[in-house]
Parts: sequence; C-alpha cells; structure tokens
Amino acid sequence: MASQDYYSLLGVKKNASEGEIKKAYRKLARKYHPDVNPGNKEAEEKFKSISQAHEVLSDSEKRKIYDEFGEEGLRTGFDPEQARQYRQWQAGGFGRSSQGSSGDFGQFKYSGFEDVFSDLFGASGSSGPRAGGPVKGRDIESELEIDFLTAVRGGTTRITLQKEDPCSVCGGTGRVSSSTDSVCKACKGTGQTKVAQGPFNFSQTCQECGGTGRSGQVCSRCNGAGYVMASETIDVTIPAGVNDGSRIRLSGKGGPGTGGGSPGDLYIITKVRPHPVFKRDGDALKVDVPVTIGEAMNGAEITVPTPQGPVQVKVPVGTRSGQRLRLKGKGAPNLKTKVPGDLFVTVKVQIPQTQDQEALDLARKLDKFYRGDMRESIHL
Ligand SMILES: [Zn+2]
Ligand SMILES: [Zn+2]
Repeated sequence: MASQDYYSLLGVKKNASEGEIKKAYRKLARKYHPDVNPGNKEAEEKFKSISQAHEVLSDSEKRKIYDEFGEEGLRTGFDPEQARQYRQWQAGGFGRSSQGSSGDFGQFKYSGFEDVFSDLFGASGSSGPRAGGPVKGRDIESELEIDFLTAVRGGTTRITLQKEDPCSVCGGTGRVSSSTDSVCKACKGTGQTKVAQGPFNFSQTCQECGGTGRSGQVCSRCNGAGYVMASETIDVTIPAGVNDGSRIRLSGKGGPGTGGGSPGDLYIITKVRPHPVFKRDGDALKVDVPVTIGEAMNGAEITVPTPQGPVQVKVPVGTRSGQRLRLKGKGAPNLKTKVPGDLFVTVKVQIPQTQDQEALDLARKLDKFYRGDMRESIHL
C-alpha cells in the first residue's frame, strides 16, 4: 500500500482548496494514465495512488477523517467516535507499549491504530468483514503469456485459474445444520459476538457457528471455510495493441463476495513473448530487411512482412544501408485511440559472401565510383 501522504502524492499543501486538489489530480492523471503509458508498471502504480488520494481528498467527509486518523480511518467499519475514545484512553497511560510494562496490560500492546485494526479486522485490513454485511470479493491478478502477434492483432484465449467457489454443501456459511441443532451458545443465536478492546466494542461474525446462530456441524466439504478452491475456465478477449504488462480487466471474474457482496474483478496482466522478426516500441514496430547492393543502388520492389501479412515495398534508387522506410499504419493499434502505429523497415545492404574472382573484380570496379575520401568526415 502507498505509504506516502495523500497531500504530497498530489503535490498540494495540507490546506489546499477543492479546486487546487482537482487541478493537481487532473494534471497528474493525464501524465500517469495507463493508456498514455502502456506497459509501464510504475506509472500504473502511481496512477492508482494518485486516484486513491484524489478520491479521499475530494470528498470533504473522507478528507476530514483522513486528516484526523490517516489511512486507517478510511477502512471499512472504522468508527471515528470509538477511535477518539481509544486515543484518549491510550493517552491516559493505558495500553502504551512504550512504557515497557506491556505485561501489566496483557493484550493491550498496540502502538497505534494500525495494530488495533489489523488485529480486529484481520491482517488484510480493508477487506475485514463488518459483521455479516455484504463484502465484495477479492480482486485477482493473473499473468498471461501471449505471443507477439496476438498482442498486436488481438484475439481470444482460454485460461484456467484457481479461485474460491462458494461451498455448495453449506451455502458458504461453513456450517451444516440438522434437526438436532440448538441455538449457538457463544452468540445466543445472533450470529455475532462482541469483541472488546479497551473502550472499543466490535461485532464480529461468531467464530463458533460461522454466523448461522445454530450449533450445526462444521461443514466437512469446506472445513468451515465456506468456500472451496475450484478451477474455472474463462475465455479472455485480448484487445489489439496490448503490450507487455498491460492489464485487462474482467469485471466480476474475481473471488466471490460474501454476505451478498458482488464478486471481485479479475485482472489479466499480459506478458508478451518476443518475436523473431519484429521488435516493438510503443505502438511502432520495427523490422530489419536485407537487400542486395544492386537493389539498393538501382531501387527495387521487395516483399516485407507485416503483422497483417506480407506487403510490397519500393526501395528507392540509391538507398543507403541503415536507411529507414516508414509503412504508415502497419504497426500496433494504440489501445486508447485505436489508431495504428507505423512499421519501420530498416534496410540492411548485404555483401555477397564469395571469393569468386568475377565478383571481387566487380567490387573493385565499384570502388572507383565513391567520390573523394569517403572516410574524410571521421578523421579528427
Ligand atoms: Zn461448506
Ligand atoms: Zn454463534
């Protein structure tokens, strides 16, 4: 998670106005937007961070909470009132680990809000359940290796991934009930238990019954987890123009939600295999094409490969080795604008590999046609 302060992320002062925040965000968003930086992971991370910062600072309620409690305050289930009480309670000398007497206070060894919340809500923080309410499923990232031409031209591919599937035996509760069930003793049938930490009172899903409120047995299929790992096959449409590190979002294909929450999303991160002939630079493609001395001097029509198939290209009279020819629109389509980039053909004049006397004599004759000292420009 981004540890940098939201204000410094956007490059604004603590007392920045709404307008200043919006302006700073827009400027940065334009710079770091993934569509402008295809395949640039660093830019993508930066974009996510500044978007998060903007989301919070542009909302006066959230901004107030953030100013007072930092990122911790924005977690699901955070109660500012209780946090303030906790802070006072802590300031009063209770639960302070810095006093070196943590033993006196038993479990109250928290040094800050983060510890309290990671303990109460589980280490994952924001995904912590707020007692039985709908929780969105987790987002899943999966790397997918695709070949070079599929990345340029687009296509579909089938992937199989392992993810949580709600257990069909217990319906996701982790417990199975029977006619002999009684009311759960731990939660008295409410499905919730109260957890107290200092002045805090939190409701948690009852560990004993998994929130069902009944004394049912732990489900043997999922061992009480409420889900089982299952493989799912998904057809992925790869948009033309993806590059190494592009993210393809498949909405709702992530982990299942709980308590009626929507499923998370699946992000496919593309890893593009190199091509033996083409090289890629953003939307531009490059290819080296060998020609003979005769073709370079006299000009020629040659066949050049493109991702869409071979095309005829005119080599102009007197083409030098290393000269670039531009084939407009024969590159990779831009992911955002769909406008195709260009294909750059670098002409490589080849020397015949021969000791044939006739060839050597012809080459010697050819030497007479170079004007002046051809290495003059490189002499110091
Ligand atoms: Zn189950
Ligand atoms: Zn219970």
